[in-house]
Amino acid sequence: MTADTITAADIRINARWLIPIEPYGVVLEHQAVIIQGTKIAAVIPVAQADREFRTRETINLPHHVVMPGLINMHGHAAMSLFRGMADDLPLMTWLNDHIWPAEGRFVSEQFIADGTQLAMAEMLRTGTTTFSDMYFFPEIVAQMAHDTGMRAQVCFPLLDFPTVWGSGPDEYLSKGEALIDEWRGDDYIMPAIGPHAPYTVSDGPLSKAIGLSGKTGARIQIHLHETAFEVAEAIEKEGKRPIERLAELGALSDRTQCVHMTQLTDSDIALVAGTGAHIVHCPESNLKLASGLCPAHKLMESGVNLTIGTDGAASNNDLDLFAETRTAAMVAKVVASDAAALSAHEALHMATLNGARALGREHELGSLVAGKLADIIAIDLSDPFIQPVYDPASHLVYSNHGRAVTHSWINGVPQVQDGKLTRIDVPDLMLRVAGWAEKIRKQQAD
Ligand SMILES: [Zn+2]
Repeated sequence: MTADTITAADIRINARWLIPIEPYGVVLEHQAVIIQGTKIAAVIPVAQADREFRTRETINLPHHVVMPGLINMHGHAAMSLFRGMADDLPLMTWLNDHIWPAEGRFVSEQFIADGTQLAMAEMLRTGTTTFSDMYFFPEIVAQMAHDTGMRAQVCFPLLDFPTVWGSGPDEYLSKGEALIDEWRGDDYIMPAIGPHAPYTVSDGPLSKAIGLSGKTGARIQIHLHETAFEVAEAIEKEGKRPIERLAELGALSDRTQCVHMTQLTDSDIALVAGTGAHIVHCPESNLKLASGLCPAHKLMESGVNLTIGTDGAASNNDLDLFAETRTAAMVAKVVASDAAALSAHEALHMATLNGARALGREHELGSLVAGKLADIIAIDLSDPFIQPVYDPASHLVYSNHGRAVTHSWINGVPQVQDGKLTRIDVPDLMLRVAGWAEKIRKQQAD
């Protein structure tokens, strides 16, 4: 081979193990990932990379597994500032007596900026490269994620009642449409529509949201069938289950992401499967709020695209998607009474490529394949708590936690190096977080 057949590229990552996600269920050894610009140029054996590529930077990861960055499909990032503020309470008490009053008192543009940055710091450190957000001041969240270089689906909130972000549905929808116009087509930011839940959004605004989604292609994300109470109340008031109501309105399509889905009959599952809507499973929030259990295995068998999210840090109480994936795999087995339900590889697929599919970006994200965007993470398996290694995929789901993530790149840009964040000033962030905690603690004491 002569010198002129050698291709120049930017970054080469030499990985002890590599889980590309595509093809499914594969663990490769001694692989090199070549990054050129924002994209993956090649995923090839190390010896072949020696012959074919010359890169300006080489990262050797001799004890690590390299895989695509995780996609956290549901959360309320800035709620990280409420982490641990109100625990051990049922959903409606938690919302009515604690979260909604605290939001009314504290949520502002600065709260959103600081809380979102705290959430991004935690997510980046634990392997997430793309997250979905549904919260107030989405324009700030979009700008923060873009400035940090983190990929985000930013759902603007839609509710029947006024909040700090607007006077009611009409204002939310007009501000939301402006957000969609501003960011549509952006590489990092995916603007979307976030009707809070069937019980907080009436038919009129929901129909307008569906129209806006049809016109712009923006995704709709909604909390749905989160608790038995939600379903029973809807049947009493409207004579039908929330899923039926949404289906009749035309809200369920392959642009829709249904979050939670713990209360599902076989006919609910068939209805959702038939529409192509995606499901976001948030097991730890469901467990902590005693909401119920999402039948993950049944949903996957029915052909539904099942993704995973942490929900906000106030109901979890962390944003570690590896830990969430482990919980999902464990819960799926108990719910299905089948230890084979939601295998380690299925769980990893759920946390990567399935998320990409729900975002409509499965051709660009969610697996390590040449031509896709370079959203990559590395996890160090040399620590005693994950030794010895027989099967890295098993370890990632059943033994690991997100803090073993040492490196991450988004669009080929390093975000975490040797466990340190490269683009967030952590000491400065911690000062601002301490300031908020002081104010919130004082209010709690009054
Ligand atoms: Zn939520």
